[in-house]
Amino acid sequence: MTETATAAGTRASDADTAVGTWLASFGEALSRGDAEGAADLFEVDGYWRDFVAFTWNLKTLEGRDEIRRMLDARLDDVAPSGWHLDEPATETDGVVEAWVVFETAVARGWAHLRLRDGKAWTLLTTMQELKGFEERRGAARETGVEHVITRGRKSWLERKEEHARTFGREEQPYVVIVGGGQGGIGLAARLKRLGVPAIVIERNERPGDSWRKRYKSLHLHDPVWYDHLPYLPFPDDWPVFAAKDKIGDWLEHYTALMELDYWSGTECLRADFDDDGGTWRVRVNRRGEELELRPTHLVFALGVSGYPNVPDFPGRDDFAGEQWHSSQFTGEGDFEGRRAVVIGSNNSAHDICAALWEKGAQVTMVQRSSTHISRSESLMSLALGPLYSEEALANGVTTEKADMLFASWPYRLLPGAQVPVYEQMAERDAEFYQQLTDAGFELDFGEDGSGLFLKYLRRGSGYYIDVGASQLVIDGRISLARGQVTRIEPDAVVIDDGSAEGRRLPADLIVYATGYGSMNQWLTDIVSPEVADRVGKVWGFGSDTTKDPGPWEGELRNMWKPTNVEQLWIHGGNLHQSRHYSRYLALQLKARMEGLDTPVYELQEVHHTS
Ligand SMILES: Cc1cc2nc3c(=O)[nH]c(=O)nc-3n(C[C@H](O)[C@H](O)[C@H](O)COP(=O)(O)OP(=O)(O)OC[C@H]3O[C@@H](n4cnc5c(N)ncnc54)[C@H](O)[C@@H]3O)c2cc1C
Repeated sequence: MTETATAAGTRASDADTAVGTWLASFGEALSRGDAEGAADLFEVDGYWRDFVAFTWNLKTLEGRDEIRRMLDARLDDVAPSGWHLDEPATETDGVVEAWVVFETAVARGWAHLRLRDGKAWTLLTTMQELKGFEERRGAARETGVEHVITRGRKSWLERKEEHARTFGREEQPYVVIVGGGQGGIGLAARLKRLGVPAIVIERNERPGDSWRKRYKSLHLHDPVWYDHLPYLPFPDDWPVFAAKDKIGDWLEHYTALMELDYWSGTECLRADFDDDGGTWRVRVNRRGEELELRPTHLVFALGVSGYPNVPDFPGRDDFAGEQWHSSQFTGEGDFEGRRAVVIGSNNSAHDICAALWEKGAQVTMVQRSSTHISRSESLMSLALGPLYSEEALANGVTTEKADMLFASWPYRLLPGAQVPVYEQMAERDAEFYQQLTDAGFELDFGEDGSGLFLKYLRRGSGYYIDVGASQLVIDGRISLARGQVTRIEPDAVVIDDGSAEGRRLPADLIVYATGYGSMNQWLTDIVSPEVADRVGKVWGFGSDTTKDPGPWEGELRNMWKPTNVEQLWIHGGNLHQSRHYSRYLALQLKARMEGLDTPVYELQEVHHTS
């Protein structure tokens, strides 16, 4: 990178100068309300992704026209200012990248900018904190005690116990979060910091049980750098791939340390909106006692992988052996010599096949459609390593920066950024993929070759991160059967092999690793089918690929942003997404609690109901 002398006599790099010039023009155009002038600073097809700062929404604007339209609508209110470089910019292959800070009338923001030939290719703007409602941290932290001796003053523990007795009864929460997995817990921690009274409702006995209850061989598939919760990172000797019970324990301790109002052993039975009172009526059963909570906002955090999907194969009820959905399979039991048929070929199917094989079962995996497989090691080094690894940390890519960088690619561009990664993976692991194909396994790399993460975002399924089970398939120790299941017989699964009678796979036990239903189903069950339809499909962004029908929407449907049902929100995703996006959901809730004006720019249209 070259350096040039500035008027002040210090030296700035060309990249800094390019960004400085762009920011000055951008800032000036915005200050004089010149939406067109600001839009013209983008490439014709440039992208502006905004998380809450400008749009009170999560929104990607594609091209100058969409950018100008948003600015026309929002500029007066937002009143952005103070755009400046947060640290020296960098330049690689003609792309200048910069971290930028800015302010709006009500908030402070952090942005990431990519420039090509002096025009913005991508801009990500995010709200980081609301002015006047900052988290009390660092120098602004509470003292914790008043150094004044008075009679009758209460200790921290007494106040805590009193709060636990009265909160949700005499005093209502502003937010109820239904679902106390890692999503609900992380969001509650952010709300706590922001002073938003919230209760988490969780039907399990203990925080962390949603992980503990999964099959016993499970370890996180994602590495530690990707998995931190807000505020309290894992210690630096935490294993790369934590065991599910270890994560369960962490969540339980986190909940206690963050002093969350977490009602375990509590099931949410029903919720409906009281139009007169402007609050939700949430009926819960708390350890046998029925209660009604009256929050202003209701957040569903019931999990992308929460609603078991069990296909209604003919004859299922007549099966003589044991059968479970993968979510019910614990791995406990004597499987020696038993004939196990696992229906499905994604993550859970592979893990469960391997667990059964380890316990001496004769295992058959039924592959019904093609599957993407990334070897864990390759995924870590090629796909995640640049952002989430020790090496990334050593390069100054903190978790916060990694989350921003990940988000800095609009979904329209993300496949293009991912394809080369998976091309490299295909080359590096060519022998492995050939062996799998030779074993009869039907592989894919996504419909456009964009690999695992895009499959996750588009449909939440269709892949396996190989941690060893593929070798069992290659070696034939796990038998592979390809085809659609036509029926279940008392002692077999029958699949279509083109013959009239089909192929019988003798079975003593069946595991349906057939995935999870839409999060929208939770709304049907707990609120009503009408409300579920008004909210519409959850997840996917309209890529027009399998299970993610068009039209193009550009952001994940209904996640972390206003839905078409006021005061109803959906939160979730993997650990990385829950950590990052909980910030924006928490700020949206806080702003509403404080009575700030929060006009939502272009609320999404509902194109699909489930
Ligand atoms: C086998 C498997 C492996 C995975 N591996 C990873 C991984 O490595 N990394 C990763 O980030 N993600 C992984 N995931 C995805 C994982 O599901 C999510 O990361 C995580 O569980 C989502 O957290 P959540 O809080 O959104 O949902 P959940 O953990 O599903 O939590 C939802 C909670 O809602 C509760 N609940 C449901 N109904 C009610 C009700 N009516 N009333 C009260 N409470 C209710 C449930 O008991 C549950 O605790 C994996 C998923 C599976 C199935």
